[in-house]
Amino acid sequence: MSTDRLELVKGSFEKKALPADVPQKKVSDYFGELVFDRVKMRKYLDAKTLASLLDCIDNGVSLDRETADLVAKGIKEWALEHNVTHVTHWFQPLTEGTAEKHDSLIDYDGKGGIIETFDGSSLVQQEPDASSFPSGGIRETFEARGYTAWDPTSPVFIMDDTLCIPTVFISYTGEALDYKTPLKKALKAVSDAAVPICRLFNPDVSKVYSYLGWEQEYFLVDEALYAARPDLMITGRTLMGHASSKNQQLDDHYFGAIPPRVAEFMRDLEIAGHKLGIPIKTRHNEVAPNQFELAPIYGEANLSNDQNQLVMNLMRKIARKHGFVALLHEKPFDGINGSGKHNNWSLGTDTGTALLAPGKDAKGNLQFVTFFVNVLVAVQKHNALLKASIASATNAHRLGANEAPPAIISAFLGRTMTGVLRKLLEVPSGTPIEIAGKQGKSVGLVEIPEIFVDNTDRNRTSPFAFTGNRFEFRAVGSSANCAGPLTVLNAAVAMQLTDFKKDVDKRMASGAPLDIAVMDSLKPLIASVIDTVCFDGNGYSDEWKEEAARRGLDVETSVPEMFKAFTSPEALEMFTATGVYSEKELAARNEVKWETYTKKVQIEARVMGRMAINHIIPAAIEYETAILKNMSLYKDVFGDCGKLVTDKEILDKISGHVEDIRTKVDRMKEARKKANVIADEYHKALAYREIAESLAGIRRPIDKLEEIVDNRLWPLPKYRELLFIS
Ligand code: ADP
Ligand code: MG
Repeated sequence: MSTDRLELVKGSFEKKALPADVPQKKVSDYFGELVFDRVKMRKYLDAKTLASLLDCIDNGVSLDRETADLVAKGIKEWALEHNVTHVTHWFQPLTEGTAEKHDSLIDYDGKGGIIETFDGSSLVQQEPDASSFPSGGIRETFEARGYTAWDPTSPVFIMDDTLCIPTVFISYTGEALDYKTPLKKALKAVSDAAVPICRLFNPDVSKVYSYLGWEQEYFLVDEALYAARPDLMITGRTLMGHASSKNQQLDDHYFGAIPPRVAEFMRDLEIAGHKLGIPIKTRHNEVAPNQFELAPIYGEANLSNDQNQLVMNLMRKIARKHGFVALLHEKPFDGINGSGKHNNWSLGTDTGTALLAPGKDAKGNLQFVTFFVNVLVAVQKHNALLKASIASATNAHRLGANEAPPAIISAFLGRTMTGVLRKLLEVPSGTPIEIAGKQGKSVGLVEIPEIFVDNTDRNRTSPFAFTGNRFEFRAVGSSANCAGPLTVLNAAVAMQLTDFKKDVDKRMASGAPLDIAVMDSLKPLIASVIDTVCFDGNGYSDEWKEEAARRGLDVETSVPEMFKAFTSPEALEMFTATGVYSEKELAARNEVKWETYTKKVQIEARVMGRMAINHIIPAAIEYETAILKNMSLYKDVFGDCGKLVTDKEILDKISGHVEDIRTKVDRMKEARKKANVIADEYHKALAYREIAESLAGIRRPIDKLEEIVDNRLWPLPKYRELLFIS
C-alpha cells in the first residue's frame, strides 16, 4: 500500500500535457455551433413560426401547440444534421447539478421500419418520475408526478449525441421543485417593479433585465491521487491532511503562469463552452496552489446561470480527459483558500441603460442613485435571508473562517459612493447630481467622476461589494446553483422597488416634482443604510462581528439556524407579495435544505470514522511496531541506553494520538446514533451540526500522526503531493 502511494505520486509527476482538440478556426467561426440560437432559428423556422417564438422569448407571449410543433420540426432538422440520436429535458432539481433522462428519437413508422421523431409535445413537456428528487414533502408518495416544461428563453443545445431542452421542473400541483422556476419568477418580479420607476425617467422602457456574470473557482487534482483519497472521492474534500510546508504564503500562484497540463485542459474546456454559446472570457490561476478561475462575459441571469451549470458539467467531464479531477467543493483543503463563485449582478433596461452605473447627466445619476440605494435597503432588510441563500454544509467551511466571506452580509460601497450618499443627505433635495466633465471641471455639488468605473477601490473582505457598474455577491459557494441567491436578491430588490415607487407616487400626487419627490423618498433610506449595512472596513476582523451585532445585522453562524430566515414573517411577506415562493414551497425547501445538510455531514462523519480506523490507526501501529522491533534489536546489541528513552517518547506520542482518535470516533458514532432517531429535520440538522464541528477534533491527532509516521507507511496522498502537481 505504502509504495503504491509513492508510485502514484511519481506517475502523476510524469504525466505529460495532452494536447487540446483545437479546431483550426477562429472562435467566432464555431461559437454557438451547438446551440439553437437566433441564427439557427432564422435558418430552420419559417417567418411566422420565428415571429411567434421570438414573441414568446422576448415578450412572454405563450406558444400554441401548432407553433410548438413547427419549432420542434426545425429543431429536429438541425439536430439530425449534428448526428443527434437522443433528446432530454434538462433541469435543475434541488440536488446539486442538473438532471436529464434521455429518450431515443426513434419510433415505428407504421410501415415496419423506424423513423426519427420529435414533435411539439416532446419539446414542451415531459413527465420524469419525480419521486426520487428532493421535494421536501410537497409530493406525497401517492402523487409522484412532476413535470418538466420547456423554458424557451434558454436555447436548446446539443451535448454529445443528445438534444438538451432547458426546462423548469414543477409538481403536479404546480409547486416549483427546482432552481429555475423561482429564479424566473424573481426576474419577472424585479422587472415588473423596476419598469415603473424607469418610466419616470424614460417612458420608452418596457422591460428590465437582471444580469449575471459568475466567476467560477475550482481546484484540479491528479485523478490517480484523487482515487487514493476516499474522503475526496466521497465527500469532495479532504477530511484530513497536514498542511504542506509551503502553501500559499508566497502568493506565487495567483495570476502565475498556467502549468501546461492545466492550460491544455482549459483550452478544451473553453472550446467546448464556446461551441455551446458560453462566452467564456477569463481564465487564471487563483490564490491557492492548484486553484483556478474561469469567468464568462456577463449575460441575462437565467441564461447565464444555465451556462454556469453547463460549465460545471463540462469541467468535470473534460478534466477526466486530461487526467484531472475538478473539485468544485467550497473547501477541498484546510489551511488554504476555499473556492467561491462571485455573482456579479446588475440591472439594465431594454433601452440599453445600465441601472447600477452612473448616468450621463444629472437625471441619469438620479436614476442610478435610486436603484443603488434601493438595492442597499433590500440587502439591509433581508441580510439574514441573503446569508441563508448562500449557506450550505459545504460553504459553511468558508463562511466566517478567515477568508471570504464573513458570516455577516454587509455592503461595500467604496469611497466615491459613500461620499456621494453622505453629501446627498446634506444638500437640499433637487440638487443636481452632476458628473465631473472630462477636463475634471466639477459643475455640480455631488460628483461622480467619470473615471469612477475604473477606480473603485477593492475590498476583498466584503460579501456584497459595489464595483462601479454592478454589485458582486461574493459569498456564493463554488458548488452552488447561482439561482438560489439570485432569486432572493432579485425578489428582495423587487419588493423594495415597489415600496419605493408607492412613496414617490404619494409625493408626486401632492405636487412634488420628480427629482424632489425621488430625493425626498431616498433621503430617509440613505440615512437608514449608510451606517448599518454599508461597511467598508475589514469584514474578517473580530471587531466587525461585535459592531455588526450592534448595528442589528444578522450574525448567526449556524447553517441549519440560518435557513430559518426563509420562513421568517418578513421573508414570507416578501416572497408571497412578489409571487416568487408560496408558503408551502418555502417550508418544503427548508426541509430539503436541512435534510441535505444532515446527509452531507453524515456522509463525512462516516468516511472520517472509517478512514481513521481503517487507514490511519493501522499505519500508526505499523510504525509503532517498527520502532519496537528496532528498540528490541538495539537492546540486544547495546543493552539499555539513552536512545531508547527518545524512542519511548515517540511511542507514547503515537499511542496517545491513536487513543485520542479511537475515543473521539466512538463519541462521534454515539452522537450520530442519537441524531439519527430525531424525526424532525430541523432538529436533526442542529444535532448534525455538532457532529460536523467534532470532525476537526478527530482530524487534529491524525494530522499530528502524519508528521510522525514513516512517510513510506502513510496510506494517503499528502497535501504537498495533491497540491503541487500539474
Ligand atoms: P474580477 O475578478 O476583477 O472581479 P472578472 O473579470 O474576473 O473580475 O469577472 C468579472 C465578471 O463580472 C465577469 O463575468 C464580467 O462579465 C462581469 N460583469 C462585468 N460587468 C457586469 C455588469 N454590469 N453586470 C453583471 N456582470 C458584470
Ligand atoms: Mg470578482
